[in-house]
Amino acid sequence: MECKNEPTLIDGKLIASEIKKELAKEVADILDSGKRPPHLVAVIVGEDGASLSYVASKEKQSKEVGFMSSVYRFPETISEEELLNTVDFLNKDNEVDGFIVQLPLPKHINEQKIIERIDPRKDVDGFHPANGGRLMYNMPAFIPATPYGIVTMLERSKIDTVGKHCVVVGRSNIVGTPMAVLMSRNNTSANCTVTLCHSKTQNLKEICLSADILIVAIGRPEFITAEMVKDGAVVIDVGIHRIKDDTRERGYRVVGDVDFKDVAPKCSFISPVPGGVGMLTVVSLLQNTLKAYKHEIYPEK
Ligand code: NDP
Repeated sequence: MECKNEPTLIDGKLIASEIKKELAKEVADILDSGKRPPHLVAVIVGEDGASLSYVASKEKQSKEVGFMSSVYRFPETISEEELLNTVDFLNKDNEVDGFIVQLPLPKHINEQKIIERIDPRKDVDGFHPANGGRLMYNMPAFIPATPYGIVTMLERSKIDTVGKHCVVVGRSNIVGTPMAVLMSRNNTSANCTVTLCHSKTQNLKEICLSADILIVAIGRPEFITAEMVKDGAVVIDVGIHRIKDDTRERGYRVVGDVDFKDVAPKCSFISPVPGGVGMLTVVSLLQNTLKAYKHEIYPEK
């Protein structure tokens, strides 16, 4: 990969809108054939601002592509038992193809217990250990939305991955770990040699400098600087932060885990924040929901 000094911006908004058009076409065909549309349900507990806006975006985008969308809202005070009963109810409802329980949950509720109660066939977030295990063994699985979106970005941007060194920084269950698994796959959208880094990694700078593809999901604003990036690298920035900026009317600006201005001139491709990975997250969830509707991951017996 050669540095062009003018990096190609990976336009998450454009890729997301192309996928949504494809989904809308498929849903229109389903409706034309007389069947019901795919149905995605979101369960939200409490009033966390970020969760509310994420769920609102899921609802809006579901409707845009013609899905049925429902939201179950509960107060912070809901008991673990009541939430488990809701999961049981949604598991059994034949008119629900996929559902997500928006995280984080209040402290008195055991998140893992809730996740494990979801029927893996309806687990469109891909957080159930059954889907994580299937992903690990290269079986059909619901892939968590963010890494799924990143693979889609790489594919649609026609980025050559085969045999490249991919460094993933961050090992969370929802981003870094599944990302590293996907990038090491023996297929055309991955097939990389992968290094997975975290907060205890030694020589992080040197490892990042050896990356052809650098995927960063650490949750630290503008942490990755130009001196950590090889000339011509592909950089994918997952982080999303609001930082105070009095020069802006709204008093803040949105940045990623990568210092974009510093790093971009060294890259062949870079995903911006905002307008990059984040645009694909909900779309990937919709793709998973359509797969659930069509029983693509778990064929009907
Ligand atoms: P987590 O906090 O769950 O994980 C962060 C990971 O980064 C951990 O593995 C941690 O290591 C590692 N890490 C932290 N500091 C360092 C460091 N100095 N050097 C190397 N590794 C470090 O975060 P998430 O994966 O949930 O999210 C990461 C970022 O991505 C956040 O900014 C989040 O807001 C954003 N995000 C964006 C999404 C989108 O749609 N655009 C979706 C999901 C997340 P260790 O394991 O050792 O603690």
